[in-house]
Amino acid sequence: MSRLIRAVIDTGALRHNLARIREQAGRARVMAVVKANAYGHGLVPTALALGDADAFAVARLDEGLALRAAGITQPIVLLEGVFTAEQLVQAARHGFELVLHDALQIELLEEMTGAHRFVLWIKIDTGMNRLGFPEREFPAALARVLRLNPAPLEIRLLTHLASADERDNRVTNEQLARFRAATAGLNYPISIANSAGIFGGVQINCDWVRPGGVLYGASPFADGSGGDLGLKPVMTLESSVIALRHLAAGERVGYGGAWSAPRDSTIAIVAAGYGDGLPRALPAGTPVLVNGARARLVGRVSMDMIAVDVTELVGVQVGTPAILWGRGLPVEEVARHALTIPYELLCSVSQRVPHELR
Ligand SMILES: *Cc1c(COP(=O)(O)O)cnc(C)c1O
Repeated sequence: MSRLIRAVIDTGALRHNLARIREQAGRARVMAVVKANAYGHGLVPTALALGDADAFAVARLDEGLALRAAGITQPIVLLEGVFTAEQLVQAARHGFELVLHDALQIELLEEMTGAHRFVLWIKIDTGMNRLGFPEREFPAALARVLRLNPAPLEIRLLTHLASADERDNRVTNEQLARFRAATAGLNYPISIANSAGIFGGVQINCDWVRPGGVLYGASPFADGSGGDLGLKPVMTLESSVIALRHLAAGERVGYGGAWSAPRDSTIAIVAAGYGDGLPRALPAGTPVLVNGARARLVGRVSMDMIAVDVTELVGVQVGTPAILWGRGLPVEEVARHALTIPYELLCSVSQRVPHELR
């Protein structure tokens, strides 16, 4: 079998989605969020395909180093900043932009010897209560940053929205109001919107947007899919049928015999399991595309395979292609069966699954 499970990455779709985001984001510049191996799509190939992005954002220093090692020259923002003096030196060496969310990070800058001037993003916590300076601590943080020597190359401000995935959520408006109040009278570039903010109509005049999920074609909203937002799926998780079974009514499939055939059935065994990143909790009834037609998963997900009821389909044989999500089967739909969000499915595709760029 030459065509076992692989993640086919559609780089044209990536570029389409970036263009669609620009359309939606008005004058804002786009910081493409490529943390967590570009949401499972492959950090370096994704960044190379997004040569048009104004900047890249990653969570951790190592991710930024991998981008630089691959020759990426755009600005790179470390969304969690750095935590040690040694990391700060590396960040300077590679020209990373830093998010500052904690006083300790300002202290590292105060103590740093050397002439490097950073672009610094001060994060204000407007209600997410995760990272950032609470509004009452922000003025003191800004004052310290303004006293840094050497002075920052530029100061920018950001906050993160907790509930933008629910359209017209009251919390979002409160966060925006708090951000406006905290930054009144200041004239620094700002960034607020993630995917949900960009497509959920968060009307604020931002200088930068920070899309992650929508770059990959995944909707941040609980209903619908990326297609509804004019986006194209970037990853198609494809495999193929490696065996067929004909069951008499009442016969069971897989570990624990968790599913029994309600009628005489044809079951296709597809080479994709939790060892590849499918959730083991995927329930019977989860859709799978076999030869382009919808079929349903039956029985438990194993490490290396799943069973799919193909009784209604004709022409299924060993080698027939199967799609777990992507083109023709929105990852959002599979995520709803798995009681999770598409981001988690995309990020969970495991190391052993090869990527194939198209
Ligand atoms: C991950 C992340 C984003 C991107 O979020 P999406 O919902 O994927 O668009 C934006 N900003 C920050 C600070 C993040 O950590």
